[in-house]
Amino acid sequence: MSGPRSVVVRAPNWLGDAVLSLPALRDLRAAFPGARLEVVARPAVAPLYGAVPELAGVREARGFATEVDALRGFELGVLFTNSFGTALAMRVAGVPERWGYARDGRGLLLTRAARRPAAAGGKSQVFYYRAMLEQIGVATSGAPDASLRCPDPWRAAARAKLGAGRFVGVAPGAAYGGAKRWPAERFAAAAAELAREREARVVVLGTAAERPAGKMLAQVCGALDLTGNTSLPELCGALAELDLLLTNDSGPMHVAAALGTPVVAAFGPTDWRETAPFGGRAAIARESVECAPCRFRECPIDHRCMERLAPARVAETARALLRGETGGVA
Ligand code: SF4
Repeated sequence: MSGPRSVVVRAPNWLGDAVLSLPALRDLRAAFPGARLEVVARPAVAPLYGAVPELAGVREARGFATEVDALRGFELGVLFTNSFGTALAMRVAGVPERWGYARDGRGLLLTRAARRPAAAGGKSQVFYYRAMLEQIGVATSGAPDASLRCPDPWRAAARAKLGAGRFVGVAPGAAYGGAKRWPAERFAAAAAELAREREARVVVLGTAAERPAGKMLAQVCGALDLTGNTSLPELCGALAELDLLLTNDSGPMHVAAALGTPVVAAFGPTDWRETAPFGGRAAIARESVECAPCRFRECPIDHRCMERLAPARVAETARALLRGETGGVA
């Protein structure tokens, strides 16, 4: 094709995946410089793209019918999702060119289909999205750019909730399941120590599901508890304003790393080679256990991957990161 006038990307449904697919989004921007480039995303993820200046627009997919409506009129659609339903929506919307991985039985719905790599090969998931583009003939080049640029109004809205001063953030949640969660008491111990050293206050960030952890940290170390109290733009603004974030392998981890905030992530059951925060100001803390990475949502044994990880180890990793002695885990 000579080059489409309009390109739509169907974004992943998870926040972390949305961040890790940003380099591929930018590859498309570079491949079709004259095209209008937009994203269609679930409401939980869509606001994130307000921090991606390369885009001309973001549309929300609240269900199959609204997704079809959002996709209508585009000449090329690229699926960063893997589901049959998202490919079907693109077909029903009449998008003439539909590109993506041939997964979930949707190969016949695509006009250019890539085969899923046999193995991620111990590489960041960033390269999963880029490998798809390469297979279907879109050039990828240069260092992957997974950065987000936090708009000033997002920072201001976050500051209105944070107040003045320096903050060490804790993101104790992990939507995927309990196996990814480092115990909240350990976050409290590590964060309190680091906040004391930095003359900062601890702030807890997350969804309403993290309220018990937020309450506990407020009691134990006087943390400001913002769990369940931030929109996605406010969460981004808060993450951008932090001195440091301690987190599980989670959406906020990826967002903070993309914003350039120093991040230390406690890793247990997930594969650190594939989903570690992508960027030079991030480090992971993990214990070598024979069963990791298992990728289970809930641990079937004694959760040793997380239980053996001491607060002192996480705190020391953070100090080394802030001194510039470690980091760049991508
Ligand atoms: S099986 Fe091993 S790696 Fe998986 S959650 Fe349990 S302790 Fe962690």
